[in-house]
Amino acid sequence: SKRKGGENTFSLFDQEMDARALRYLGWRAQLEQSLKEDRFELYFQPYFYTDTRTLAGAEALLRLRDPQKGLLAPSAFIEVLEESPLITAVEMAMLEKIRAFLLSLERPIKISFNISPKSLTNARFLEAIQAISRDVGRYLVLEVTERLLVEEAERARVFLEEVRKLGVRVAVDDFGTGYSSLAYLERLPVDFLKIDMSFVQRMTQSRRSLAIVDTLVSLAMKLGLKTIAEGVETEEEYKLLALLGCDIVQGYYLAKPMPREALEALLSDTASV
Ligand code: C2E
Ligand code: MG
Ligand code: MG
Ligand code: MG
Repeated sequence: SKRKGGENTFSLFDQEMDARALRYLGWRAQLEQSLKEDRFELYFQPYFYTDTRTLAGAEALLRLRDPQKGLLAPSAFIEVLEESPLITAVEMAMLEKIRAFLLSLERPIKISFNISPKSLTNARFLEAIQAISRDVGRYLVLEVTERLLVEEAERARVFLEEVRKLGVRVAVDDFGTGYSSLAYLERLPVDFLKIDMSFVQRMTQSRRSLAIVDTLVSLAMKLGLKTIAEGVETEEEYKLLALLGCDIVQGYYLAKPMPREALEALLSDTASV
């Protein structure tokens, strides 16, 4: 009967829920353990001035050193982590690593870092940025997604104004993919627009994508912001971005994310020429 079918569906659904909850809880426990054992690491992806190809800075990207699976990229864990309150502790540990790295450099460079919606609305995270900013604030670039700027507009404005007082700069990550609303650009203190790699990777195939990248670069210029193109994988893309007047390029064509030691080697190579 209809009723019986309903019951079956319900219990099946129940079992699935249990399995999912278990997997989720298992993940959370694992992530907590990973933080305790300091298994979150930072990789750094350099980015370069388009015209001179000289180093402009590097983006810090989270990795998880799993004892069985090896080095994991964020796609393997960031969703669960961002849903958990643990994310802010992980991002605070990341800030501490960035501070130590910057202080170890003879000639520090700009370091960009990504923050989750939870951290952006967490007073303790703001305090952590304030605490390290006396030393390294002027080298920091905070990356936030435009989705967050729209959904948490008021809290984001307060947070960004606070960090900018510390000399920290702000980049809008994955620009062009979140919301079509440009209203936040009128009000929010922003320094960089990061053109999402999906546009960059389609622009050599599609006139429309090219028109979008061209327009985003012009928009940024008129607003007095710098553009960073992400996901640059080919010479052709690089040349086109140079032609369009994009300020900074980041992508596998120039450099992949690398461990701290590799970035240090790159920095000392640059220093010796
Ligand atoms: P994102 O901030 O947009 O970072 C750029 C991602 O694109 C990185 O992936 C980078 O490795 C990748 N990428 C760079 N150049 C190229 C290229 O030429 N081709 C291709 N196909 N990919 C390229 P990754 O490291 O896997 O990070 C993925 C996302 O994870 C980041 O996207 C960011 O949203 C998130 N994430 C990373 N670290 C953190 C963190 O500390 N906190 C938070 N909340 N999110 C983070
Ligand atoms: Mg980013
Ligand atoms: Mg991005
Ligand atoms: Mg992206």
